Amino acid sequence: MTAYTLGTLLYEGKAKRVFQTDRPDLVAVEYKDDATAFNALKKAQLAGKGELNCQISARLFELLEREGIPTHYRGLQDRHWMLVKPVRIVPVEVVIRNIAFGSLCKQMPIGPGTPLEPPLLDLYYKDDAFGDPLLTEARLARLGLLTDEQRVELERLAHAVNGALLRFFADIGLQLVDFKIELGFTADGQLVVADEISPDTCRLWDLQVSDARDRILDKDRFRQDLGGVVEAYGEVLKRVQGVCPEPRIYG
Ligand code: UDP
Repeated sequence: MTAYTLGTLLYEGKAKRVFQTDRPDLVAVEYKDDATAFNALKKAQLAGKGELNCQISARLFELLEREGIPTHYRGLQDRHWMLVKPVRIVPVEVVIRNIAFGSLCKQMPIGPGTPLEPPLLDLYYKDDAFGDPLLTEARLARLGLLTDEQRVELERLAHAVNGALLRFFADIGLQLVDFKIELGFTADGQLVVADEISPDTCRLWDLQVSDARDRILDKDRFRQDLGGVVEAYGEVLKRVQGVCPEPRIYG
């Protein structure tokens, strides 16, 4: 018996579907097996990816909660379903980079692998039609997406997430290279970490492996056609499970 009934589809994204429930304080998220990259120019179905990302995300949200960082997460439901608080997503992708890689190295004279201390925080406007462009403070203000105070809070939360995840992943032999998070406002106006935190949204390198390709345990395996994508995500889950074996089940 569940404490809620599934309602209509609210939103379908590239990797997830979001459903209303009969409870106003509860939204259900289904993680899909679809993989996309390069603004959906590259697509594939990867059997098991949805479940792995759901299971990894649930545990990472619980870790953040334990660190006092508010998130939308309420609990797992099933292998590839979780329940979350309804939020109004801020259309800003917040990226924190600890090591230079990916788009940064294509846009700036910074070599791949350069340590970034302090970590670099970049904000991008979340809109596929515009190709998720880099935001400036002035553009953010012009679009009226956040007040100055809200931007400061969003950046504070993102740095707190980075601190918690960096330590957590290091303890399980993974280097957190960079990651993207999305945040949203709850009904009572609190800014919380939302969306997902998984190898689709984080770059993770195996600290025990020196080969630059073999150490990749994230979506770059898909982007670069390295193979073994689901196996790599499975390895991340195995290590995360070692620290957080039993996430809570909602209801
Ligand atoms: N990222 C993401 N969704 C996006 C863009 C980036 O989850 O739409 C993640 C990506 O997986 C990486 C980090 O954000 O962990 C930084 O990505 P980057 O800006 O280097 O872009 P990319 O090289 O992935 O195009």
